[in-house]
Amino acid sequence: MKRPELLAPAGSIEKLVTALHYGADAVYLGLSEFSLRAKADNFSSDELADAVRLARRYGRKIYITVNIIPHAKDIPLIREHLGFMKNLAPDGIIISDPGVFDLAKEIAPGIPVHISTQANITNPSSAKFWERAGAKRLVLSRELTLEEIKEIRESVALELECFVHGAICISYSGRCYISSFLANRSANRGECTNSCRWNYTLMEEKRPDVFHPVFEDDRGTYLMSSKDLCMIEHLDKLADAGIDSFKIEGRMKGINYVAGVVKAYREAVDALAERPFRAQERWMKEIEMFSSRGYTTGMFFGRQPDNGYNHDEKDVYRMSHELVGIVKTVENGRLTVLLRNVLNKGDSVEFLTTGLEEKPFIVDDIRNDRGRPLESGRNDEIVSIPSVPGVRANDLIRRPK
Ligand code: SF4
Repeated sequence: MKRPELLAPAGSIEKLVTALHYGADAVYLGLSEFSLRAKADNFSSDELADAVRLARRYGRKIYITVNIIPHAKDIPLIREHLGFMKNLAPDGIIISDPGVFDLAKEIAPGIPVHISTQANITNPSSAKFWERAGAKRLVLSRELTLEEIKEIRESVALELECFVHGAICISYSGRCYISSFLANRSANRGECTNSCRWNYTLMEEKRPDVFHPVFEDDRGTYLMSSKDLCMIEHLDKLADAGIDSFKIEGRMKGINYVAGVVKAYREAVDALAERPFRAQERWMKEIEMFSSRGYTTGMFFGRQPDNGYNHDEKDVYRMSHELVGIVKTVENGRLTVLLRNVLNKGDSVEFLTTGLEEKPFIVDDIRNDRGRPLESGRNDEIVSIPSVPGVRANDLIRRPK
């Protein structure tokens, strides 16, 4: 069986390099005007050209989102951007609107089109429709069970992609107006503020200053508080159901998240070569380190009304490790490090390097770029520290919080 692709988010050049370094087969990203993550640190046109070159240098694929739900006034700019895509020639563009699909076929006919999860493909008829239209890949709706995915697989030959990790919308695959009403930022234009995850109380009209907490049980309310998706222990079932590409959500998240999650999923996808597939404890351990609301398997095994919600306050936004820096070079027994945090002499750090992840190292020598000893380095400073065997350029350095 062909090994499924591991597809990672890349919200900036730095995240792109991190995703490629830790083993993503492909990355997806967006132009700032048209991505469904318009507020993420998306790419300008020049950066996008750099990103495509970088992915090519690594021999990996790059997909670009153009999945806004456009109004008539948006069309001229979309035409212009599709013309730009034609010259850029990414490995795919991700689209949700049929009108944009038609424009892409007209303006950039050579570029494969992926149909976004926002197009809500939930059944074989819909999949066949897009296959007939000429799509190369479908990013399936997140609301499908494994059985439903198999039915779609049996009805079409095109590539199927699904989300395996990351945040889940409480609405139907992002088609939602909560953020638009409450924050004047529309999820359908890539500006969601995650309003479904805010804290809500009850207020009586005539007493506007009195807020009554809402309790569904003795721990509070979690009506709209979905856990995050994590399918790392079940990738074999998704591969057997016919999924060709495993997608990690999170272009808004930091490089710490991108590195750890891609690294864990890289190992897991490679482990699919051996059956029975055995999920490793260290994968979950790695993934548990990052900001999440607790994990769920979403809808893949049917509806899970209890397991899918976050009932436990301690699960909210936990993050056990923080980023310290990125290794830029390894030379003459020393590492050049771009700091992303304060680093003091004597601090204990860990390297996100195979075999070293949980080993603490004491940084007993910090120097500046002229070789002068320092007591500490600041965020954004480039310093040098003693090398550790096995560490490579682009590895991340982190520490427990
Ligand atoms: S407010 Fe919540 S449910 Fe609505 S689009 Fe944003 S994340 Fe999804």
